[in-house]
Amino acid sequence: MEKVVIVGSGPAGFTAAIYAARASLNPLLFEGFQSGGIPGGQLMTTTEVENYPGFPHPGISGPDLMARFRQQALDYGTRAHQEDVVSVDLSRRPFRVKTTEQEVETHAVIIATGATAKRLHVPSEERLWNRGISACAVCDGALPLFRNKELVVVGGGDTAVEEASYLTKFASKVYMVHRRNELRASKIMQERALKHPKIQMVWNSVLEDAEGTDKVSGARLKNVQTGESRSMPCGGIFYAIGHDPNSKFLGGQVETDDVGYIKVTPGRTYTSVEGVFACGDVVDKIYRQAVSAAGTGCMAALDCERWLAEHGVE
Ligand code: NAP
Repeated sequence: MEKVVIVGSGPAGFTAAIYAARASLNPLLFEGFQSGGIPGGQLMTTTEVENYPGFPHPGISGPDLMARFRQQALDYGTRAHQEDVVSVDLSRRPFRVKTTEQEVETHAVIIATGATAKRLHVPSEERLWNRGISACAVCDGALPLFRNKELVVVGGGDTAVEEASYLTKFASKVYMVHRRNELRASKIMQERALKHPKIQMVWNSVLEDAEGTDKVSGARLKNVQTGESRSMPCGGIFYAIGHDPNSKFLGGQVETDDVGYIKVTPGRTYTSVEGVFACGDVVDKIYRQAVSAAGTGCMAALDCERWLAEHGVE
């Protein structure tokens, strides 16, 4: 019987684990594979993190930062298992958490499953996924498949700029395809893209399909103003169009908004189910920062510790 099971291995999950472990709750943490195919959450697919406090210029890489979070959680006794949680039963106590490998019973659950990159669902997407279409430049950009090729990044937010900038290390040219004629990205990131000699904007355009037989050889783009379609030869297409919260495994047992973000009591981490706490990007569609996720992870562990004490679980 576990006191607390933490689901998720990003900044929120590991911060919750550090606090829970230091409070002698002996947490069991499941590190899932949902985001980007590797445990560690979205920072695993981020290059330089320049805004995490405590790491002045030149910052720290996302994977290095996550390795530190993880080590700190393990140092204090967190048991981390690399398994995806597939379902939970919150209808009776103790709760049951089922993973790809096992089922465990627990008094409390902290959900820190984050959010996953969205897909466009163009006709050839399934066929060419990982054959030139990717949602993670940092994971895949250095592959030989993309070296010295012209590449396409779809999206106009900070992620799109970050991915495009990263890809310039390997690509001969990067086209940023955006459905409007101005970027959503922050000013500093916009400048980075607009001034970069290897990045060229393709405004008012959407991806209609990927072209190629066994690997991507082009992108069919449609200009949303003129309605015209054209084929652009390229060796790869990277999606950077936002994220979906990873809450489906809860099977509707915890209240969410209509998109799937878990609802919590304002200013706390209590969900609609007593003994279930939520933190990080699965709750937050506004800030979505590593530092805010870590902050709510800390809150979830403290809320959980108090709740367990109130219910006689020491
Ligand atoms: P985002 O800000 O939601 O941007 C998504 C982009 O994709 C938007 O430009 C959007 O177009 C476009 N888009 C969405 N659905 C589309 C579709 N179906 N077809 C074509 N285009 C589509 O997401 P994000 O860039 O992943 O950023 C998420 C949050 O993380 C933001 O708060 C961001 O500031 C933060 N972030 C920060 C950093 C950093 O500071 N280094 C890095 C990455 C992310 P529209 O603009 O037309 O809506």
